[in-house]
Amino acid sequence: MSHNAKHDACAQPGLMPVDEAIKQICESIQPVTTEIRPLSNAMGYVLAEPVVAGVDVPPADNSSMDGYAIRVADLANGPLGVSQRIAAGDRPQPLQPGTCARIFTGAETPEGADAVVMQEKVTLVDDKAEFPKDTRPGENIRKKGQDINQGKLLLETGTRLDPISLGLIASIGLPEVVVYRKPVVALLSTGNELVEPGLPLQPGQIYNSNRYLLINLFKNLGCEVIDAGIIQDTLEETKSTLARVAEQADLVVTSGGVSVGEEDHVKPAVEALGALNLWRMAMKPGKPLAFGSIRKTQSEGGAYFVGLPGNPVSAFLTSLVVVRPALAKLQGCKTLQNIPYRYAEAEFNAEAGIRREYLRVRRIPSRPGDQPNQATRVELFPNQNSGVLTSCQWADALVVMEPGQKIREGDWVKYLELTSLMAAY
Ligand code: AMP
Ligand code: MG
Repeated sequence: MSHNAKHDACAQPGLMPVDEAIKQICESIQPVTTEIRPLSNAMGYVLAEPVVAGVDVPPADNSSMDGYAIRVADLANGPLGVSQRIAAGDRPQPLQPGTCARIFTGAETPEGADAVVMQEKVTLVDDKAEFPKDTRPGENIRKKGQDINQGKLLLETGTRLDPISLGLIASIGLPEVVVYRKPVVALLSTGNELVEPGLPLQPGQIYNSNRYLLINLFKNLGCEVIDAGIIQDTLEETKSTLARVAEQADLVVTSGGVSVGEEDHVKPAVEALGALNLWRMAMKPGKPLAFGSIRKTQSEGGAYFVGLPGNPVSAFLTSLVVVRPALAKLQGCKTLQNIPYRYAEAEFNAEAGIRREYLRVRRIPSRPGDQPNQATRVELFPNQNSGVLTSCQWADALVVMEPGQKIREGDWVKYLELTSLMAAY
């Protein structure tokens, strides 16, 4: 099959392109409601209103040095007597003409002063201060509003609060912010074969790894998580559990049970409780993915629903690639742009089928003698099977291989950094 023919093949009906799925999901999601939070407890929340400066920062001119505040024009009259002492926090008197003021870092400069001379450059003779002749107006004065002018738009709606933005908000004196509340995600694992760590494995059973992976991933991504445990593979249990947890959640996430086999009950259960799209995604790992909603019966509206594939690597990668932007939308983030691609030289050969592939790779340290600007190289984890979670632990990046793409050793390939993908927008 030619390269082009392969690209054509990926347009085949039935496979949902990854970007199209992200778009459709994000378009159907509305942000959660808002709340007022004190600044001391707002880290990681997303602004639901813009932050506009009500004051200038700094609020007045102040000294950036320990030294003497002067009016430069007075220097023509020889040494100046010291008429006041101003420490940080003091309210200064206007500067008496023909005198200087002892002043300290952070202290407001007195009205009439136009420069501060640092103390190391000043000589005191008979209680008078002698200044260097080359002192310029404005020297060592931090101007009122040099950081922020009153009325300035500091932070837009949809900004996630980080230590810097919280410091900025404090600098204009706001004690609280209006933010979107943390979305509540209820997480469920489906599967009769699942057993919790700590219990012995019976024949046919495996440990429930998705629960621990996904709970902590969603917490990292800025959600409050309800750990709703395991659902057995029956339609009744799937339906009743989903209906129950949906009452308290903004989003219900399940793993497993979204294929269309006899033991897969997620699709009929969510269809009975609300609405569902079940997609065969053009993504590898991670083919089946369900998105929909579950009606609430005890309150207005509903909970969104995402059904992740069961294999741990598939569940993990679809969460990063598809659910992460959906959560950003739910959280009210202004940008749904995913993290930017980076580029590296492949140290391997690979060939995509008709789905986009996310290859677990690791960046290789430079070779001895490499220049710092030399290409990053990436090597491939040998087993890319979707059941091999060690591939994700070994990897620090995901090479994104488009449908039909052939990668040959030495090719430039695009990749996403895993640590950035695991952090909130
Ligand atoms: P399913 O989509 O339910 O057929 O699951 C696909 C594969 O993922 C099966 O091999 C399951 O045993 C496995 N799997 C499903 N859920 C989990 C889980 N919570 N932890 C580990 N493996 C799982
Ligand atoms: Mg299953």
